[in-house]
Parts: sequence; structure tokens; C-alpha cells
Amino acid sequence: MCDNHNVVEARHDFSKETIRKLSERVGSTCSNPDCAAPTKGPHTDGDKVISVGMACHIHAAAPGGPRYDEGQSEDDRRSIHNGIWLCRTCGTLIDTDEERFPAPLLRAWRAETELTAFKKIGKPSAAAAAPSDGVPFSNDAANSMRRLAEQYVSAGYPNFKVWMFTPDQNDPVYGELRALGLVYFGGPRGGPWRLTQEGVDWIMRNRRL
Ligand SMILES: [Zn+2]
Repeated sequence: MCDNHNVVEARHDFSKETIRKLSERVGSTCSNPDCAAPTKGPHTDGDKVISVGMACHIHAAAPGGPRYDEGQSEDDRRSIHNGIWLCRTCGTLIDTDEERFPAPLLRAWRAETELTAFKKIGKPSAAAAAPSDGVPFSNDAANSMRRLAEQYVSAGYPNFKVWMFTPDQNDPVYGELRALGLVYFGGPRGGPWRLTQEGVDWIMRNRRL
């Protein structure tokens, strides 16, 4: 049974603290491994968070609810170990068909999702970790860099530089651009270095110095 924050007598709901921990233990993703949807993000109001997640009971919080276990104590029912974090769709799903979603399956989902979340802690995302080391500059990219630098300088920003992540330092084009002071060594990871005139135009429109 999923915690919808309604006050109903005799329901043994989770505390706010338990709900927060259930969400954070899975990095706020849905614990159905076939879903794994992110459930939290920024509201347009900078002081608020959007959440489409629910702290769900593995064994229901009240008699008559899905997977209710009369052998549980009140503390057992409120315990974090009786909870699983799901998106609203999956939370609704598990409560509408308890035969298909028995307690052992939900515990397995939770364990698998927590392990996945643990393995991701502190690691760059797959996109950020994409191979980017030692990608040579093409002459086209170098020319785009020069044009971009000229546009920046003529727009009144004399200190134009572009961040690169571990380029091939033996690449003569990289060496030339470095000598001209047009690139920083290091900086945020990116994909293979490709900069077209479209890219230059985009940066000029969107970049804030
Ligand atoms: Zn889901």
C-alpha cells in the first residue's frame, strides 16, 4: 500500500524521515528494475522539488490492504524494511495486482535497485565517462576555434578560452592552440572534440561569460 499522505485511522504509515531515506537509498529512482524512472527534480519555483515518487508498503499499512500481514507489529509495518520507493505508476501497479507483485518480488526489486544505486555513487555518468581522451583536433575544429576566438574578442571578451579534457598532447594542432592560449588543459569531460560553425554560433548565442 502506497503512502499517499492521507490521514486514515489505523494506518501504520511511514514517518517523514523513513520516506526520505527510502527515496535517498535508491537515488530517488523507481525501484522497479524494469522502470527505474527518476522521480525527483527541480520545480520552476527555485524553492521547491517536484516528486512523482511514492513510499510504498511491501505489507500494507492497514487491514484489507495489499499483502497485509497480520503477524506484523505496528513497528514492523512502519519500519523502513517494510518500504519500497516507486514512481506513481509502479506504486499504483503493485497495489492493484498483489498476486503479480508479491512481497518477495518487491524485496528483490528493492535489493537490486539499492545495489545499482550504490554502484553509481560518486561515479561519473555513462555519458560523462564516454571515451574522450586523446581525440585529435581536426583542422576544421581548429579553424572553428580560431573563428570563435575572433568573435569573442571582437564582442569584447579578450580572455576567450575553451575547456578541453585530456586531448592528445602530441597532436600538433592542440599544441598550436595551446601556445596561442586558446585552450585550457583539463576541465569538464565531453565527447569526442567536434566543433562546427553551427557549434560556434550556438556557443555565441548561449554562453555567458
Ligand atoms: Zn516506476
